[in-house]
Amino acid sequence: MLNHADAGQYYDEIGAFYELVWGDNIHMGFWHDPDDDHSLAVAQDNLTDMFIEQTLQHGGTAVLDIGCGVGQPAIRLAEKSVCQLTGITISQRQVRQALTRVHEKGLNGRVRCAYMNAESLAFPSASFDVVWALESIFHMRDRERVFGEIYRALRVNGRLILTDFVAKRPLAPTQQLFMSQLFQMQPLLTAQAYAERLEQSGYVVEQFRDISANIAPTIEEWKAQIARQQSELTRIYNASFTSMIEAYTPQIEETYRQDMGYIFAVVRKT
Ligand code: SAH
Repeated sequence: MLNHADAGQYYDEIGAFYELVWGDNIHMGFWHDPDDDHSLAVAQDNLTDMFIEQTLQHGGTAVLDIGCGVGQPAIRLAEKSVCQLTGITISQRQVRQALTRVHEKGLNGRVRCAYMNAESLAFPSASFDVVWALESIFHMRDRERVFGEIYRALRVNGRLILTDFVAKRPLAPTQQLFMSQLFQMQPLLTAQAYAERLEQSGYVVEQFRDISANIAPTIEEWKAQIARQQSELTRIYNASFTSMIEAYTPQIEETYRQDMGYIFAVVRKT
């Protein structure tokens, strides 16, 4: 899980791990309240549904999904709407997987997927009504540039909907190194700095929610899945990969619980 050149290479190699542990959605789950005992899969769909609800509310039809993973969130939107979707990812493996899934669902005419870096979007200005960034921006080196590129690609009054990790306080250098090696995570902003950065990029912040508590149970699911999939992980990777993940999980959990948070935001291009 260590030492990848970028997030693309990371997902090319670690994609099979996420498929086993998280399934088709490469993102955290959202549980509505402490009594919500739905499965991880349902909770992950809940998070996607927050994006879908906002998208439908704004009435947009041209939607860009930045960091689309294997296409599952975009496919879910396509199945519930008449939207035209374009997903982009910097993992070639994910492009192939997304295209296969889209084809299997018969959604070829409505959902496209391309290999593209969000730091340099190859779309004309004002191409999209809504842009999604579902847990992808934390991988990106130049966040300001990405916000600027999205701003350009959006129509006036278009919305950027995103979830992302934030820092409760700056991570210690060793923790940062650990998280960037394990998750290709770039240095995080605090929630306040994140909202300010969006405003500086020209957006009006319409919603900005701290949903850390709603997604926290994902950690328990992560641990349970790794235990459940132990032999399969060893078969696909090797025994040292499995022991490395098991050995690092307490530190991941501690960093996550003590130093990180998670936000959901809806912002508008003016
Ligand atoms: N949104 C998807 C996948 C989240 S995983 C889901 O919820 O299932 C993070 C995604 O961000 C991956 O698809 C990864 O390839 C993508 N990504 C990371 N850096 C990127 C960049 N610079 N440009 C485009 N996509 C990027």
